[in-house]
Amino acid sequence: MTPVTTFSGRTVALFGLGGSGLATALALKEGGARIIAWDDNPAKVAEAASKGIETADLRQIDWAPVSSLVLSPGVPLTHPAPHWSADLAKAAGVEIIGDIELFCRERAKIAPNAPFVAITGTNGKSTTTALVAHILREASRDVQMGGNIGTAILSLEPPSDSRVHVIECSSFQIDLAPSLAPMIGVHLNLSPDHIDRHGTMEDYAAIKERLVAKAGLAVIGVDDPMSRAMARRCQEKGVNVAFVSVEPIEGKGVFADGETLVGVTGSETAPLADLSGIGSLRGAHNAQNAAAAVAVALALNVPPEQIRSGLHTFPGLPHRMEEVGRIRETLFVNDSKATNADSTEKALKSFDDILWILGGKAKEGGIEPLRPYFPKIRKAYLIGAAADEFAGTLGRDVAYTRSETLDNAVAQAAADAAAADGTMVVLLSPACASYDQFPNYEVRGDHFRELVRALPDIEVKGA
Ligand code: ADP
Repeated sequence: MTPVTTFSGRTVALFGLGGSGLATALALKEGGARIIAWDDNPAKVAEAASKGIETADLRQIDWAPVSSLVLSPGVPLTHPAPHWSADLAKAAGVEIIGDIELFCRERAKIAPNAPFVAITGTNGKSTTTALVAHILREASRDVQMGGNIGTAILSLEPPSDSRVHVIECSSFQIDLAPSLAPMIGVHLNLSPDHIDRHGTMEDYAAIKERLVAKAGLAVIGVDDPMSRAMARRCQEKGVNVAFVSVEPIEGKGVFADGETLVGVTGSETAPLADLSGIGSLRGAHNAQNAAAAVAVALALNVPPEQIRSGLHTFPGLPHRMEEVGRIRETLFVNDSKATNADSTEKALKSFDDILWILGGKAKEGGIEPLRPYFPKIRKAYLIGAAADEFAGTLGRDVAYTRSETLDNAVAQAAADAAAADGTMVVLLSPACASYDQFPNYEVRGDHFRELVRALPDIEVKGA
């Protein structure tokens, strides 16, 4: 835990007692603050109280002694409408901040030079965060990884000069962290997402930009126009920028030439690493993630040899084009995190001869945008509520079967693969939310993994 000593003796209100909210309350208490916490969910309030946290409905308290409101990133600060606790704080003239801000203030006090890598972007945050942490660990660095991925930031060990914090930041977290100034800030890309929570695309972009604008080094993906403009603005303001791209770059940084990562410094351009054969980093989107991770590792003085070895041993994250196992020539891939057509496109781009398991609760637009990839599909296995809609889109262009359940789909796809010849991929990439049949995409992906691992003759890597 990182006790928050910067609020010692002060009174802090906190709303939102989910995983990170409770961790934050405990870290503030440990650091000597008086903390008054609340949540709409009585069970969360009871849990906090059982851990010794003072709880009270923030609508009933005297706000005069409160110095700050700490908000969970899931609670709306501005859009679609401010949460009532944010309104109360504003009325009382109280600042509204989040756990990343508390970490930044603590770092500024106890270890201002502690290596701190903060990572954001619309897509690829978790992969890049996990990859940076993995490369650094393989290079024997003391690494603390968390934030929007895994462990809440204040549950991690405190910052120190010999320890690297690698922190994934959502835009909601950045919005609540006005003094965020990481040693290395990474912004990967921007596409419309969460606009309902940020108002406009410009507001959303401006929030992301705050993560890199005050960074010692800003590693910026420049493959979309808004991120390119962001990189230009940072350069104009004198920020040290390293460019990341899947195209050649103008300026220093790392770019992907096909599957080769190429480093560009002031004086030279040289190949750094080859991604071919790394199953956990397939596809151009992962080349962007890998290029960003390599730029970070270089900046932290990891020798290129160790960076290459870290890339090769990266196990990847579950549910993102995760290789689950093989039966002879057939690879089984769990891409359950792909809950929309955009994400599924990344997987369809990355494989050929696909036995595609898809469906669930359809998103607007369905799978129509994926039509260019239909020639790669040997057969589709439709599950869940979207079956009728998707059958309509696949029409006569793709052979399909209505499997209804994931259990049927896996059994049918495995049988079809066994009866056919050649290299194939059984791919769960649903292009749908899971809520019609599963509580979330993780449960759906875990179930797929279990079903596949129970198939006769399955070979699991490393098992
Ligand atoms: P995030 O943490 O930002 O949600 P993840 O690393 O968990 O991102 O990846 C989620 C999905 O986003 C992946 O399954 C893939 O479809 C897509 N994705 C990953 N990296 C990128 C990228 N750099 N650009 C575009 N899409 C990406």
